[in-house]
Amino acid sequence: MGSGQVTSTSGLFDFQGKHVTVAGLGVSGVPAAKALHARGAVVTVVNDGDDARAREQAAELEALGITVRLGDGSTLPEGTELVVTAPGWQPGKPLFRAAEQAGVPVWGDVELAWRLRGPDAAPWLAVTGTNGKTTTVQMLASILKAAGLRTAAVGNIGVSLLDAVLGEEEYDVLAVELSSYQLHWAPSLRAHSAAVLNLAPDHLDWHGSMEAYARDKGRIYEGNKVACVYNVADPATEDLVREADVEEGCRAIGFTLGAPGPSQLGVVDGILVDRAFVENRQKNAQELAEVSDVHPPAPHNIANALAAAALARAFGVPAGAVRDGLRAFRPDAHRIAYVADLDGVAYVDDSKATNTHAAEASLAAYESIVWIAGGLAKGATFDELVATSAKRLRGAVLIGADRALIRDALARHAPEVPVVDLDRTDTGAMLQAVAEAKRLARPGDTVLLAPACASMDMFTNYNQRGDAFAAAVRELGA
Ligand code: ADP
Repeated sequence: MGSGQVTSTSGLFDFQGKHVTVAGLGVSGVPAAKALHARGAVVTVVNDGDDARAREQAAELEALGITVRLGDGSTLPEGTELVVTAPGWQPGKPLFRAAEQAGVPVWGDVELAWRLRGPDAAPWLAVTGTNGKTTTVQMLASILKAAGLRTAAVGNIGVSLLDAVLGEEEYDVLAVELSSYQLHWAPSLRAHSAAVLNLAPDHLDWHGSMEAYARDKGRIYEGNKVACVYNVADPATEDLVREADVEEGCRAIGFTLGAPGPSQLGVVDGILVDRAFVENRQKNAQELAEVSDVHPPAPHNIANALAAAALARAFGVPAGAVRDGLRAFRPDAHRIAYVADLDGVAYVDDSKATNTHAAEASLAAYESIVWIAGGLAKGATFDELVATSAKRLRGAVLIGADRALIRDALARHAPEVPVVDLDRTDTGAMLQAVAEAKRLARPGDTVLLAPACASMDMFTNYNQRGDAFAAAVRELGA
């Protein structure tokens, strides 16, 4: 881990008269254009699409005096001095190549929020990772609140970053969720402390390679002041800490599901303990909470809790608030959500497990499982997931467009596991899937919806998929 070398970014930036191009309308583009316009920038919004929704948003912005170009998101408007992009826009787009050639900087929504912060703005405790970001950020906000701090979980859910930075509400500290896309476009972000929860291949089509994806995730550690929190079980996260340039005195803090070494948080006899933020960490450890204080107490979620605790402790939160905050926290819907018990079998909805890494964590949380999986694979392969989880599978029920990929992996690594392959995608499919799972399950088993795939082949989104599962369970139990 390097030190020093951090360029100071006061957050103050003069937009008056600056020609700024906002790339993309939508959830981040519209508020970005308004905020820039309000600061005196000459704003042009460019957008690929030209549908009814885009026209509606364009009309709203044009009424304020903002120029909007629909149907061409590729051409860089003449005179552009800065591009502010929606985080999802791929770095290879012609607009960005043109910006690079013209020496024009490109910022994402996070960079913009960071630059628009006032001089006394609340510091950021930042979280990224392939899986567990939302949960960890919410746990962190719950802990910070329990410590009496004014805070919010910001990012993908709840308050948007721009609102948190520009709104009326005053904060002592923000718990910020950051995606790899957002980090890619946030060159000057400097968090108080940050955590990378885990690193598994995801969104590689966007980033171009695993190295580029990891590099973008690793940006979260740049310039950290107090702590870089990494996952001991995932050495790639520690590598990112080592490569980061941080402020003098910033510490590397590991979290582990095992007994913690010095400068780590971990678990001893069902207790979450801190051996990092204590006096004399060679000898001492501080009890933070019990495993049963974490909901649900699945191993990956304990890891999330430890990461949240590490960031809170880096901010000076006392141990008692960690416990109270974890006790008060409940995960969002469709994340290992217990639905019901039918005939001694538990039904659990983890519809949010939309990739193999998430599903693997989910499957590791139960001993004997009837697994409901399938959907859109997004280029994933299932051998590793199935090989690791095979011993826990009582059976599998496969749904969705890419189910054959999972079926083939099961045939290779778990040929003895009974598999039901459902060749239907209509609205009744989930009811049949749950009925088949019920037939395969024995008392003590868990029927787990952890699809390892996206849902859009059969459902609007993972919420609707999870709701369909819960409705089916209720119907079968009635
Ligand atoms: P994200 O915001 O990163 O998508 P969420 O907190 O919404 O993460 O959790 C998404 C899914 O990822 C959960 O439903 C669960 O299956 C899985 N998950 C959560 N935490 C972890 C973790 N630490 N490691 C692996 N998988 C996890």
